[in-house]
Order: sequence, then C-alpha cells, then structure tokens
Amino acid sequence: MLEVSPPSVRRMWQPTISVVVPAYNEAAGLDLFHRRLLRALAGVESWEVVYVNDGSTDATLPAMEALRRADGRVALVSLSRNFGKETAITAGLDHAAGDAVVVIDADLQDPPELIPELVAQWRAGFDMVYARRRGRAGETWLKRSTAKAFYRLMQRMGDLKLPEDTGDFRLMSRRAVDAVRQLREQHRFMKGLFAWVGYPATYVLYDRAPRCAGVSKWSYWKLWNLALEGITSFTVMPLKLATYVGLGVALLSVIYAVQVIVKTLIIGNPVAGYPSLMTVVLFLGGVQLMFLGVIGEYLGRVFNETKQRPLYLVERYVPSAVKVSV
Ligand code: UDP
Ligand code: MG
Repeated sequence: MLEVSPPSVRRMWQPTISVVVPAYNEAAGLDLFHRRLLRALAGVESWEVVYVNDGSTDATLPAMEALRRADGRVALVSLSRNFGKETAITAGLDHAAGDAVVVIDADLQDPPELIPELVAQWRAGFDMVYARRRGRAGETWLKRSTAKAFYRLMQRMGDLKLPEDTGDFRLMSRRAVDAVRQLREQHRFMKGLFAWVGYPATYVLYDRAPRCAGVSKWSYWKLWNLALEGITSFTVMPLKLATYVGLGVALLSVIYAVQVIVKTLIIGNPVAGYPSLMTVVLFLGGVQLMFLGVIGEYLGRVFNETKQRPLYLVERYVPSAVKVSV
C-alpha cells in the first residue's frame, strides 16, 4: 500500500469516532462548523476530528491551526496543493484513527447533528451508514433532473448499485475504511468506491441545508466530469456500445447496398448519389470520432494509472493527541 496513516496515530490514542472534514477555502464558516460539531458530538464518548486543508488559498489553514491549539482532539492534515474533494477525503481516511469514520462537508450542508444517529446505526451492526437527503429542495430543476438521469444511467450500465440522494456524508466502520483505503486509483469517484466495498449498509434520512458561507465549487462542467469519472471508473459499457453501434451501422449499410444494387439493376444508374453519399460519409465519420473519443477517455485513465503517482502530498500533519484515561 502506498500511503498508510502514520503509526503514531494508532499508538497515541484510539478515538472511537473520527470525523473527516475536507475543506477548501472554508475559512468563513469553519468556526461555526466546529462549534456545531462540538455540540453534536457531546454524547459520543471519545472522538477526534480530522480537518483536511485541501490547498486553500484563504485563511482556512490558520483557522484550523487555531482549532488544533484550542482542542487536542483536532487533527490537521494540510495537503501540498488543491487535490480535489475526493482526494482530500482519501487523505482524511488515511489519517483517521477511529473505530468508525464519519465524512462530512465543512460548509454545514451536512448537519453534524445527524452524527449520533449514524453512530447508533453503526453500533447496531452496520458497516456503512449513508446520510440520505430527504429531498433536493433549493436545487434547480436542471440539477435535480441531471442528477436523476445520471443515477439511472449508472444503474443501467454498471453492476454497481449507487444509493440515490446521498453524497459523501456517511459513517464507515473500520473494516469498510480499510477496504476503501486499498483502492488507490487516481480517478476517484468516491461514491462508487464506497458502494464497491459492500458490507451491510443502511441509511438515515436528513434535510440538506443550503451552504452557510462561501460558494459551491461545483460548476456544471465539474459535475459533468464527475459523471464521466463515475461511468468510466466503473463500467466499460461505452466501449461495448461502440461494438453494437458499429454492428448496427454495418447491417444498415448491407441493407442499403442491396437496395442500391436492386435499384440499379431495375431502373439503371443515373449517377445521382451525392446527397446519400455525403450523409453516409458524415454519419460514419461522426460515429467514428465519437467512439475514438470514448476510447480516448479510457486510454487517458489507463495512462494516468500507469504512472503510479501518490494520490496526494502532505505538507503538514498534526495528529490529534488526547490520551484516553481508562
Ligand atoms: N472541497 C475540497 N476540495 C475541493 C472542493 C471542495 O476539499 O477542491 C470541500 C469543501 O470545502 C466542502 C466539501 O468539499 O467541505 C464540499 O464542497 P462544496 O460545498 O463546494 O460542494 P457541494 O456541497 O456543492 O457539493
Ligand atoms: Mg456544499
């Protein structure tokens, strides 16, 4: 395995729950988040929170450092640059010491108050407890319908069942976390990786709040790329599709050829094939380019994986350091 959590983490103390919080430019809301988290965790006997600074350009890191100074149960992982949320979560999982790990956004869209419910389901024996959005209120019609279409597409194409209306907000048992940590691919579609693990899973319903501060980092272009990531990481269906479209087009062209021959034999050939010729040439050209693109998407991913680079680099790491008094 490439990066494992430093052994010191496990030796120093063993929190029951680790809360992993990826944060990119969240300085404005971090203190508020931490206060709400503290209140929500009041009933949990031992916990740590692992803040991952994903190369923020604002005061997120100093804010985290201040939280760390004030509370030993705070761990801090600062990445060398912005690696993206999926990788930031991975870094958090690698540095989390708990028997169970909760992943939660820093912008308070995932209510920390739900954590005790997630923990209760974990204690009831589930390895993966999803927080499932009750509705997608506050999101535009376009975002809702594209999300729906994506889940339906994923369901049809791959044999992986993605839970609907769930983000990365969830709790995982230690064995589920260790399983996810073994998946070191560069192209990380976390929802897919979480689902790939399997193990007994359940969900808890919640209402997703609007962002408390800052702006969402997800443009439609990014979402489209995330969808591509999801599809290409978990199914080779688009490649198979090329075969069938090719087959279909070949069959059609045989039929067309027969028609042309019969017509020529019966009514002669007045050389008038320009429009049909152009149509066929353009259509085939388009289909070929499209599938070259699809192959390119996969090839690019193969290329990226073969380089075997580490997923992220840690610039600074401060483990949580509370000794449990037994
Ligand atoms: N985030 C991150 N790295 C990034 C982008 C986002 O760590 O490159 C974090 C961000 O700080 C937040 C969480 O991921 O805690 C969710 O991001 P955001 O709110 O932008 O996504 P949305 O809620 O719109 O899906
Ligand atoms: Mg958000």
